[in-house]
This record gives sequence, C-alpha cells and structure tokens, in this order.
Amino acid sequence: MADAAIVGSGPNGLAAAVTLARAGLRVAVYEAADDIGGGLRTQPLFDPEIPHDICSAVHPMAPASRFFRAFGLAARGVELLTPEVSYAHPLDGGRAALAHRDLETTCAGLGPDGERWRRLMAPLVRHSEGVVDFILSGQRALPRDPVAPLLLATRILVHGTGLGAARFTGAAAPALLTGVAAHAVGELPSLAGGAVAALLGHLAHGPGWPLPRGGSARIAEAMVDDITAHGGTFHTGCAIGDLGDLGDLSDLGELGGYRAVLLDTGVPGLLDIAGRALPDRYARALRRFRYGPAAAKADFLVSEPIPWADPAVGRAGTVHLGGTHAELVREENRTARGVRSRAPFVLLVDPAVTDPERARGGRRPVWAYAHMPNGDDTDPVELIRARIETYAPGFGDTVLAARGMSGRDLERYDPNDVGGDIGSGAMTIRQSLARPVPRLDPYRTPLPGLFLCSSATPPGPGVHGMCGYLAALSALRHVFGIRKAPPLAPVA
Ligand SMILES: Cc1cc2nc3c(=O)[nH]c(=O)nc-3n(C[C@H](O)[C@H](O)[C@H](O)COP(=O)(O)OP(=O)(O)OC[C@H]3O[C@@H](n4cnc5c(N)ncnc54)[C@H](O)[C@@H]3O)c2cc1C
Repeated sequence: MADAAIVGSGPNGLAAAVTLARAGLRVAVYEAADDIGGGLRTQPLFDPEIPHDICSAVHPMAPASRFFRAFGLAARGVELLTPEVSYAHPLDGGRAALAHRDLETTCAGLGPDGERWRRLMAPLVRHSEGVVDFILSGQRALPRDPVAPLLLATRILVHGTGLGAARFTGAAAPALLTGVAAHAVGELPSLAGGAVAALLGHLAHGPGWPLPRGGSARIAEAMVDDITAHGGTFHTGCAIGDLGDLGDLSDLGELGGYRAVLLDTGVPGLLDIAGRALPDRYARALRRFRYGPAAAKADFLVSEPIPWADPAVGRAGTVHLGGTHAELVREENRTARGVRSRAPFVLLVDPAVTDPERARGGRRPVWAYAHMPNGDDTDPVELIRARIETYAPGFGDTVLAARGMSGRDLERYDPNDVGGDIGSGAMTIRQSLARPVPRLDPYRTPLPGLFLCSSATPPGPGVHGMCGYLAALSALRHVFGIRKAPPLAPVA
C-alpha cells in the first residue's frame, strides 16, 4: 500500500507527487481522464502530425517558480523556447505595441512612455527572484528579499487602480499593461490585476514567456518520469467520487488506508469527495468560494502564418487582442458582470512562431481563448475568428479546420475549471490569500491527513507547481514528521 494518494494529475498534483516521492514516500496518483497532465496536455486534433495544446501553452512562471527551479526542466530535456517578442498588442490603424524581452528595445518603442515603462519594470527585473518567490508562495512566510514586497505594493496600488493608466501619455503603454493585467480574468482595474501585471509583465523582460518545444505536455512527461523513477504509480480513467473510492473505509479508515490524501481538485471536488467528513463550518466556508469569468477556447488548423496588419506581431510568442486600455476595461467588466461581450479579450498563440517544428507541410496550429461569462455555453469559434480578422484581415481564408470549447465544455473536460473558470476560483486579492478559505495553512483541511493541492489554493492558477509543492511540504511536516524539503533536482 502506498503512503500517499494524489487525486488529479494536473501540474499541481504532479508537483505534489514529485515532492512526496523524492522524500522517499510511496505515492499513487489517481486521474479521472484517460491521460495524465490536467492543464498540461498536447494532442493532435485535426491532423496526426500537428499537436495542439489543449489548455496551457505559454509558461512564463514555469522557469521562474521555486518548484521548477529546483526540479530543473532544462536538465531533464524540456527545452523552453523563448521568443524575442514576449507579447504583442495590436491597436487600430495597423499598429501594434510590442513587449520585447529586451527592456530597452521595448522602452524605445513606447516613445514618451518609454521612461515610465522602464521605471515600472526595471526594479522588478532586478529583484525578479524575490518578486516571483513572494507572489508565487503561500504568502504566509517572511519574504527572503524584503525589497520585493515594497516594489510590488507601490506598483499594485498604482496599476491595480484607476491611477495607473493616467500615468502614461500615449495609447500603446496602457494597452500593453492592461492586456497583461487581464490575465487575472475579472474586473479591471483591480489589485489582483495589478499583481498579475507586475509578475507576468516583468517576466516578459527577464526569462521571457517561453513555450516548451513540442508542447506543454513535455513538462508533464518530465514530472511523470521522475515520479515513476521514484516508485510512484499512476491510475488513469479513475475518477474519485468519494474517499471510499480509495479503499474500503470500514477496513482502512477515512483515507482508505493512505496516511495522506492530496486532492488536485477544485473546491466542488473537495466537497464531493470529503464533504461528509468535513466539519460544517469549514464546508460552509468552502461553499462561499466564488468563481470568475470563463475562458472559451478555439483551436484552428491554418495554412499560413497569421496575416497581421502589423507584420511585427508575427514575431510575438503571445498576442493580446483587446484594443485600447479603455476598450479592454469596458469589455472585461461587462464579462465579469455576466454580460457576453461582442468584442471580448482574446489571448492568442501561434506556437510555430517560437517552435517552427510545430508547423508541417503547410499546416500549423493556432491556440486562442476569449473571456466569457462564467457558465457560458456558446461555441466561441466564430467570435474568436472575427476578433482575429479585425487585426489580421484574411485570417479566415487560411483556416483549414477549427474546434471550439465553451466554458461549459472546458468544465466537462476538466471539472476543476468550474463554469469555465480556468483559475479554479476568482482571482480577487481576498481569494488570492484566502484560497479556499481563510486559514494559516490553506492546504490542510480539518480532516487529518487530507490536503487540497490544486490551484484553488495559494498562489492560484498557472503552471508553476507551487500549490502542489507547498501542499506536499505541509503533508510531509504534519503527517510524516519530515520538516526538510527534499531535493528535487534530477538524480544523475
Ligand atoms: C484553456 C486554458 C488555457 C490556459 N493557458 C495557460 C497558459 O498558457 N499558461 C499557464 O501557466 N496556465 C494556463 N492555464 C492554466 C493552467 O492550465 C492551470 O492553472 C493549471 O493546469 C492548474 O493546475 P492544477 O494541477 O491545479 O489543476 P488541473 O491542471 O486542472 O488538473 C486537475 C486534474 O485533476 C483531475 N481530477 C479532477 N477531479 C478529479 C477526481 N475527482 N478524480 C480524479 N481526477 C480528478 C482532472 O481530470 C485534471 O486532470 C490555462 C488553462 C486553460 C484551461
């Protein structure tokens, strides 16, 4: 019998399994889907030679996070390819704002706002490790770099409120920054949006916004290899509906014989699986957890690179389609209020720009999603196609095949994406800290041995592995009496 069970094999479930296995425990991973990876899956959709990233595609947080720095993706053969233009933001009139990896080139392109962009980003870039470790943490320990929270606080207070845009004089810089803040998927401006803009915005000028060569599944595969090499086992097609599914409760106790169970599920999953064993007060607090707007995804197979009105956009790893700062704010707020926008914010990746082998025989994948109201069930393909056409006339003529997934479809695909909320819970400042409920150790539930390790815990969504890592450290400490974090680097 294994020591610990992990339910769910997204990046956080895998990070938890890696950490426990490296501490010498026997782990068993249970996954409802037929394949491992959760938000890290890459599959052909229309053509066997062209793989598409089904969920995550771009990974600014992967090389930066404490978990992955220790795990060492590059040393395990995962090649992170980094575009020279991290992201682009097309504007009207065939122009676009560009965030280059090189900060000085970015500033030079922003005219009179270049100096303000430099003052915003340069200190964050200088203190990048401290900034990343402060935001991508349980946010309950003292920061190792005391300057990082100060830098963040000043930026979040300005750019997470109405003050931010007024500090710029041109249209390009505020659109560029608001496009990054919109990754928080919710009302704008917001303090959470300001925090996301500071984190992802400065990473664009440091390690960049990379794509793994061959697709996001390469990251999951490296983690699976490490878990397997350290004795872990995987059970796919195995949805856990109740703690009893892990073993006979009458014979083996509440956790089915495991000393620790870590759930890489959303809050509804925790309530379904363990609700009857949880104290009423905790369960009631879980039911108050709120969800943000949905993502609705479109995958295209196209015959040519996207014909952007501004050809410079074709050099960017990621493209934000949202218009000016004012348009973006207006449409994001409509979406957050539950009103379907006719011009929603769209994030787009043409993976072959960064990873040319993703294009073969005149065919290439295009990955895009739009922000929609939570629970929306509309196929987004036509809406997203029209949004791309606005900035790339003729795009529709290059489309060979397309598939849409509404917010509801995403939830059917992965129950953690409640109503299509790919953050597993609204990213407000309160819910960033008190995920899933206000507790000193947010990963521990009141049921001894039961932990939540998904992005419904701090620091929240994204492929960084930190929710799983921190939940595993809590389980090691409280269940197994192991206080020292295990080494995660590849074993020679
Ligand atoms: C369309 C889309 C685009 C995204 N783009 C990016 C991006 O570019 N960059 C980025 O960093 N992040 C991106 N994300 C977010 C990122 O994928 C998630 O934040 C991340 O995957 C969360 O990891 P997780 O381990 O917490 O949960 P998940 O990745 O959601 O994995 C949870 C797993 O648990 C399984 N599971 C759930 N309940 C049960 C059960 N009861 N029994 C057994 N198994 C169960 C699910 O099947 C799933 O495999 C995107 C997400 C989506 C959906």
